[in-house]
Amino acid sequence: MDLSIGRFCGGAVVAAGVAWAARSRRWLSPGGGAAAGIVGTLTVGGGGWWWGTLMVAFFATSSVLSTLGRRARGGQDETVRGDERDAVQVLANGGVPAALAIATAASPARSTPLLFGGFAGAVAAATADTWATELGRASPVSPRLIVGGRRVPPGTSGGITPHGSLASVAGSTLVAALAALGAGRGWAPGSGERLLWGTLAAGVAGATADSLLGATVQAAYRCPRCGKPTERRVHGCGTRTVLVRGHPAITNDTVNGAATAIGGLVGVAVARAITLPLQSEGATGHAVTSLD
Ligand SMILES: [Zn+2]
Repeated sequence: MDLSIGRFCGGAVVAAGVAWAARSRRWLSPGGGAAAGIVGTLTVGGGGWWWGTLMVAFFATSSVLSTLGRRARGGQDETVRGDERDAVQVLANGGVPAALAIATAASPARSTPLLFGGFAGAVAAATADTWATELGRASPVSPRLIVGGRRVPPGTSGGITPHGSLASVAGSTLVAALAALGAGRGWAPGSGERLLWGTLAAGVAGATADSLLGATVQAAYRCPRCGKPTERRVHGCGTRTVLVRGHPAITNDTVNGAATAIGGLVGVAVARAITLPLQSEGATGHAVTSLD
């Protein structure tokens, strides 16, 4: 148990500052700003300052890419929701990492490297997916559905492009490098090398899961008037859209939340798989039986 009240308060002040700055740039709605403040406070208070740094790296790069992309497209984009991220979008990406950070404060010290591995993996999954979405839009070739490989219009959930796939690796690499750097300097728990590979794997796994779920179970709509794919039930042109695939209850936010959870699981699994044999050195060799 390591609950530092001072760090919680410091985290709350910094998270409020980041949320305020993001609000003033119109990256977040009012609800999104409140959610970001809570996620940031729990992350720094439960985990630590370096945990918060990873989260800010995700949030700032994703928001800048969204803004640049929107400017490059010269305005509205019918396939996504409004410019400002709302509370549900913030929690879909930041909920799992924040929960892992809080779990750390309530767990014995020996499990903090595993939980940080999961945290970094979840943040990497969120980053990989957001970078892939934003940079994939710049693709000169139209996306192919990850299941079946059929060409689909840009903006279709589950559609992948070489640009987007490279972007997801790049986003994962950034978070993995930060996680490893923090561990190497003693700012975060765990081994730098394990975190580097585990976080990279987690980010790529999360982004892949996001595309797979997006291509299968996520609700996908089409505007009957414009013929464009969308995630909205009512298109920007005011026309009610029709469900073409997936389940109406499974939104892009549901899928993002699931993808960060998968990233977290992979992050924990890699940290655990590599950590345990080392921990059980000198034991009887039954590493598996020592798994809690
Ligand atoms: Zn339309």
